[in-house]
Amino acid sequence: MPSAIVVGAGHNGLVAAFYLARAGLDVTVLEARETVGGLCATEEIFPGIRGNFCANSAHNLEPKVLEDMRLEHFGLRWSEPLEPNSFIMFPGGRRIVSWPNPTDAAVEYEQFSEGEYSRYQETLEEMADLGRALDVSFFSSPPSFAELASKPMSWQQQEVFRRVMFGSAADVVNVRLKSEEARTSLGMLAAAGNFIGPATPGSAYQLMQRALYRGASAVRDRPSIKATADFNSRAALGGMGAITNAMAEVVLSLGATIRTNTRAARILTSESGAVGVVLEGGEELRADIVVSALNPKLTMVDLVDEGAFPSDAREAYASLDMSGCMGKVFLELEDLPLFECARSAEENALLVRCGFRIGDTVDEMQLSYEMARRGEWSGSPVIYGLTQTAYDPTLTTTGRHVMSLSVCYAPYDVTGGWEASKNAWGAHVVDHLRGYVRNLDAVLRDVRVLTTVELEQEFGLLGGNALHGDVTVPHMFDWRPIPGYSDYSTPVKSLYLCSNGTWPANYVSGLPGHNAAHKILSDLASS
Ligand SMILES: Cc1cc2nc3c(=O)[nH]c(=O)nc-3n(C[C@H](O)[C@H](O)[C@H](O)COP(=O)(O)OP(=O)(O)OC[C@H]3O[C@@H](n4cnc5c(N)ncnc54)[C@H](O)[C@@H]3O)c2cc1C
Repeated sequence: MPSAIVVGAGHNGLVAAFYLARAGLDVTVLEARETVGGLCATEEIFPGIRGNFCANSAHNLEPKVLEDMRLEHFGLRWSEPLEPNSFIMFPGGRRIVSWPNPTDAAVEYEQFSEGEYSRYQETLEEMADLGRALDVSFFSSPPSFAELASKPMSWQQQEVFRRVMFGSAADVVNVRLKSEEARTSLGMLAAAGNFIGPATPGSAYQLMQRALYRGASAVRDRPSIKATADFNSRAALGGMGAITNAMAEVVLSLGATIRTNTRAARILTSESGAVGVVLEGGEELRADIVVSALNPKLTMVDLVDEGAFPSDAREAYASLDMSGCMGKVFLELEDLPLFECARSAEENALLVRCGFRIGDTVDEMQLSYEMARRGEWSGSPVIYGLTQTAYDPTLTTTGRHVMSLSVCYAPYDVTGGWEASKNAWGAHVVDHLRGYVRNLDAVLRDVRVLTTVELEQEFGLLGGNALHGDVTVPHMFDWRPIPGYSDYSTPVKSLYLCSNGTWPANYVSGLPGHNAAHKILSDLASS
């Protein structure tokens, strides 16, 4: 039975370990931290209050992975449906709520401009149409960009292609949408984790990624997969860590070993390729295959010896830009927030259970991005927030709440260093939130901040880049992570990559782990 070492027990490492162990490989997973999950973890945030430590939303989790791993069977439980499940707030109590009922949702857009909801739908539909025409599977190695560009497309589809592949999010939203609110609502999705401004050329691709996934025949035509729950409107009880804890249980049930508090210091190579891992402390572990679920640049530059593979390939990994821009601000609250934009107490009770977004205007977000590129954090914060204790009381023993904010643009390289400005940045974010949460000062008890630099120290999140590399066209398709090695293999034989630094990234989806494991199994079958 071949053996495999998976380095890193983030969700992708666990998914890869699952498929390899299920195929009969002898699998050992090594995790530097005390707990599994990586960025998909639940921790004690304030005394007696647990919450998501990084990622808040599992809406991209791949249903096939969920079903294959049978996570519910291993303890995963979902909240009741959270409907609506998201809204965006603007200054002065304006908002757009994503009500599940299209008639109610339409009202949210129409208040800003007559016909805006139809124009919003048309904007999404033209990307969906292109997604169907391009038919890119997210379940295997990516096509080349050249293949994609040469697919038959109508002139209208080419027009959209040109815009989403090379244009900015502002270019996309400005075509039809008339209101600043609808433009911001869609445009800010381009900024989610990517260090790019919504008006910067190249930012539009992030809007297209979902349409590509959904438009692929591999998703459209597959027999309906009974995802264990309709998790689009639900959240994992116990937070994101409940998902990865269940994944770890499945992996263990297949006879694999998971070693936490175990940091890989080097990937061991010989003339035949990767042969194992050296741990911090010197212990050597041997295996037929090594799979790194860490950042590709970190793996290939820091963990593999110079000379183990050609220097030009090493340079290509070394030159990957991993500058990140998203940090965390946690608020401990005595009571639930009262949102300025809620029209009644009943509505507030629904909204406190939702994920919320704040991103004032496209111009403001762009300005914050440009300031961050110069090392400044003081632009208007772009916020993705959640008060998960509002729907999951199992997380708090104190009755108090945690609001978990993922905030851009907070660059990795900040002028003067983060130690000097960490608290000031936290206070800046809280100050901004005052305009949106009516009772903030009355309920705020404590603030905790995690900067991009701290995310790197805690998780090996190189440069603090939330996606292990921006999701932009120059870093996607057959160029992710570097040209020539987008099929999860590396220039070192028997060494594979499977973090979000590989295709298709797609946030917390598990797809890189799924695809890498299938590539390894197919290589083993043909060797
Ligand atoms: C602030 C923030 C908010 C986000 N919000 C969302 C969200 O709401 N929804 C969403 O879908 N995505 C979100 N993302 C992105 C998403 O969480 C990540 O891209 C994804 O979780 C990465 O998963 P991974 O398994 O590829 O890698 P990781 O989760 O980074 O896992 C890598 C693992 O390797 C371990 N490790 C590192 N070095 C070593 C070593 N030398 N030896 C052994 N182990 C090691 C780490 O401890 C970690 O457990 C967010 C990211 C950030 C930073």
